[in-house]
Amino acid sequence: IIARDMIYKLVILGDGGVGKSALTLQLTQNHFLNEYDPTIENTYRKNLLVDDEVVLAELLDTAGQEEFSIILDPYIRSGEGFLIVYSVIAEATFEKARALYKKVVYVKNDETPPVVIVGNKVDLERDREVSTTDGRDFAASMNAPFFEASAKARINVEDCYIELVRQIKKKRMQM
Ligand code: GDP
Ligand code: MG
Repeated sequence: IIARDMIYKLVILGDGGVGKSALTLQLTQNHFLNEYDPTIENTYRKNLLVDDEVVLAELLDTAGQEEFSIILDPYIRSGEGFLIVYSVIAEATFEKARALYKKVVYVKNDETPPVVIVGNKVDLERDREVSTTDGRDFAASMNAPFFEASAKARINVEDCYIELVRQIKKKRMQM
């Protein structure tokens, strides 16, 4: 039996195709998902070592959602922390990230929800459309940690999730 406060519920949000499933599978199964199935939606469990403590992260990989759709609301409500992912090679997904953040604030009714911002696909540097500075500024504007990552090259994958657990821990201490 695992105590309830040992479980951290993380929800992965982001526009279609940004790499939510690839990041999640790289974390939980250590391999890169090449095929793109926009409909995959699943929950995964993974032990993470966060500051000398092993915690159980429950990851909800969302799919096919629009930021204005109410379909996302129950997912957001069920989550404690949010990995908001965009693709550094697709400007439009960066705009989506902003909208998703606002949605989290609204649905959780919390001005400072635990969030980590992730700019994925940095292995495709030649095709970059969103600069590191813009990503960092965006994250800073909501006081959220920021990572550029690559599910393919396995850059910063674990770090994003670990940092999100840290943010949730911080939040729990405030409550
Ligand atoms: P999702 O809709 O956000 O779940 O996106 P997926 O994880 O299914 O990824 C969409 C497509 O982008 C797939 O073809 C992946 O192989 C590819 N992809 C995901 N992450 C990366 C990455 O870091 N680098 C590269 N080059 N491709 C990626
Ligand atoms: Mg997916």
